[in-house]
Amino acid sequence: MDVENKQTANQTITFHRYNTVIVGSGAAGMNCAVHLYEFMRQKGFSRKESAERIVVVTRGLALGASRMSGSDKQTYYKMGTSPAVPDSAEDFAGTLSNAGCCHGDLALAEAIGSLREFYHLVQASVPFPTDSMGSFVGYKTDNDPFERATSAGPKTSKFMSECLQRQLERYGVEIADNQEVAHLLTVGAGKSRRIAGVVTVDSKSLYRVRLRINVYLGANIVLAAGGPGELYQTSVYPKGQVGIHGLAFKAGLVGENLTESQFGLASTKFRWNVSGTYMQAIPRIFSTDAGGGDERDFLAGPVRNSDKGNTVPQKANISNGAGYFPSMSKMATNIFLKGYQWPFDPQRIENQQSSLIDLLVFNEMQKGRHVFLDFLHNPSAGSPKWDVGHSGWQPQAQLGDGKAPSAEQPSPSPGDEAPLPHHTEPPTEAFNIEALEPEAYQYLKRAGALQDTPIDRLFAMNPPAIDIYKQNGIDLYAEPLEIAVCAQHNNGGFAVNKWWESNIPGTFVIGEMAGTHGVKRPGGSALNAGQVGGLRAAEYIVNVYGCELPDYSDWEDEITGQLDQLFAKFDKYRAVGSPMPKVMIQKIQNRMTLSAGHIRELRTARRALKEALELYRLIQKNGLSAQGKRELIWAIQAEHLALTSIAYLKAIVELLRQGSGSRGSHLVIARDGVEIHPDIIAGATGKVLKFKPENPSLRDSVLRVEYDDSLPDMFRCESVELRAAPSDAKAFEPAWRDFREGKIYRENER
Ligand SMILES: Cc1cc2nc3c(=O)[nH]c(=O)nc-3n(C[C@H](O)[C@H](O)[C@H](O)COP(=O)(O)OP(=O)(O)OC[C@H]3O[C@@H](n4cnc5c(N)ncnc54)[C@H](O)[C@@H]3O)c2cc1C
Repeated sequence: MDVENKQTANQTITFHRYNTVIVGSGAAGMNCAVHLYEFMRQKGFSRKESAERIVVVTRGLALGASRMSGSDKQTYYKMGTSPAVPDSAEDFAGTLSNAGCCHGDLALAEAIGSLREFYHLVQASVPFPTDSMGSFVGYKTDNDPFERATSAGPKTSKFMSECLQRQLERYGVEIADNQEVAHLLTVGAGKSRRIAGVVTVDSKSLYRVRLRINVYLGANIVLAAGGPGELYQTSVYPKGQVGIHGLAFKAGLVGENLTESQFGLASTKFRWNVSGTYMQAIPRIFSTDAGGGDERDFLAGPVRNSDKGNTVPQKANISNGAGYFPSMSKMATNIFLKGYQWPFDPQRIENQQSSLIDLLVFNEMQKGRHVFLDFLHNPSAGSPKWDVGHSGWQPQAQLGDGKAPSAEQPSPSPGDEAPLPHHTEPPTEAFNIEALEPEAYQYLKRAGALQDTPIDRLFAMNPPAIDIYKQNGIDLYAEPLEIAVCAQHNNGGFAVNKWWESNIPGTFVIGEMAGTHGVKRPGGSALNAGQVGGLRAAEYIVNVYGCELPDYSDWEDEITGQLDQLFAKFDKYRAVGSPMPKVMIQKIQNRMTLSAGHIRELRTARRALKEALELYRLIQKNGLSAQGKRELIWAIQAEHLALTSIAYLKAIVELLRQGSGSRGSHLVIARDGVEIHPDIIAGATGKVLKFKPENPSLRDSVLRVEYDDSLPDMFRCESVELRAAPSDAKAFEPAWRDFREGKIYRENER
């Protein structure tokens, strides 16, 4: 590393040079830095020489999905470690890729690297549980046919990034905190284009006389800035998880599978996934009006109220409506299954499957209602259980309504509408845990969780899942938990080859920013992919590009020019009378949740794309009106989020235009599609929701998007064929020779 300062009237610019600059201090970025250091040491560099060649640049050490997100037991999906059940990398890769749109070489690399990286984390002190023989015990997760998942508790990814951080600190690798990335510096054009470094605003300097700008130049750049969580209004990504997708597109990186975001049920007051035991405990799910009144057990069936405008208790209507589930047992079993069938999946809606629950939650919210999980009561088909007063929630009913059937089911009222003929009747019986379908009942029995109430079952299975809410001001013993169907993860991201190198040589993309997953992925495989990607990138960098510092002296004019343009833009961000950055961000978020969420429609997406383009052009033309000092950061974010939203919408429009249908974690509305239930409406159109099934012929390709501002929509789309997994198993001696001669790094396609 070396450092050089330049000063102007109102800012100090510091140039730093490293061999590798990593953006992002989540589990992926930290791990890559650890591996880089270790590979450099193996090459003979001293501790100091290795440490000085690497920097991790981040907007916040305590920010990002790894540090701030989780679930009941946050899952790490790895190759099987059961002493009794055999597993293979090819089987594992098959699971990663079998829903389509996933490159075979990436899936195989994630499989082969899985245990190496898992044990790397174990060595770094992540507390993954073992039994008395030392086996890492597994369980089943979503889209997972085996029990390959493990967990270190609700905060697995936090432990990962913290343990790796401690390792970096021991190694002496620098972590540059409070650095908001404002620009990726590029040099050269066409095939010789490179990303030379990142420009950051030191957010601690915002309140000082001079703004501190840092330029981190690197021979290699690793982008690990996570998903673009702040794109969505309804989101379980942690607040402040902005990402840098817009900046990366502008620098020339190509996106893949951007359409494949994941959505699922999560709590909103404290952003946390309610997967796993939160749902396996089988809480009651109910809704209220905006003021907390008019409580309804809406899963039991729609309220048929011919007297619109009046609040008619559900009790009086339920038996006359058409139910969504044929029995309480089916409804409760599906709540249980939501635990490990967590992401919204349009292929699990028909025939009363578990994703019907997400759709019903969403449907309820379309009506302006709020939806809650109630851990004090079992699922029911009737009477209100809570009062909301000034002091908050008060339970009406006694606890312990578990096993004994009660008289909750109302009798029909005269004069109500006749049941709709082609749908099931609502559940009529009370919750009875012994009547659950065998998959649910046996699981709970094995887990010792047949207690009378959801909260007792949750406590029996996973007390830390209750504690995490307590630590964040929510007492599951005393209040219901508000939930929504939230954006949670992007399976897509930026295109990488089997060494996680992007389309720009010397720039690597890892973690959630890399688009390595296909349409569906087993829960927990994001963390595995993030670790393997960091290992692969580090190995390639050290062995192919080497460990020297870069020399960009030939590009000084180019770099100065880009910095001048950036500072001119900062001036434009203070334009009086222009829109405020926060307002712009909210507009982007509203639009993305409405048009690019888990329910999509071509016409709405096209309109959203047009509006997104208008908003971006408006920012470009008139700038933004950043009022306080802090708002400079929001202005930077607003501009690149605006460009990111165009990329996502363009990809969505293109995929819908190709007739993709409902797949992954989104459902596509079509006039001639399949109707689920007459009471389920499409939010955007207000009409009965009919959905188009998946078009499986598109599973063999990946949709790419690339920035090109000469085009009216600013992005070019292209469908590319999937890369296969290499199958050239060599004998040991030739393989050893290839390794010694470094040929393994040359068998590379982009
Ligand atoms: C609620 C929830 C539950 C999840 N559960 C699971 C699970 O059980 N299993 C699983 O495999 N995955 C899960 N995921 C996904 C997984 O947590 C993430 O994909 C993973 O942690 C991402 O790691 P990362 O290192 O790529 O990025 P992150 O951990 O998000 O880190 C991003 C880093 O980049 C920095 N950064 C971001 N923007 C900027 C910027 N503009 N300038 C400078 N720095 C920036 C951040 O400060 C942060 O340091 C979950 C996600 C959520 C939201």
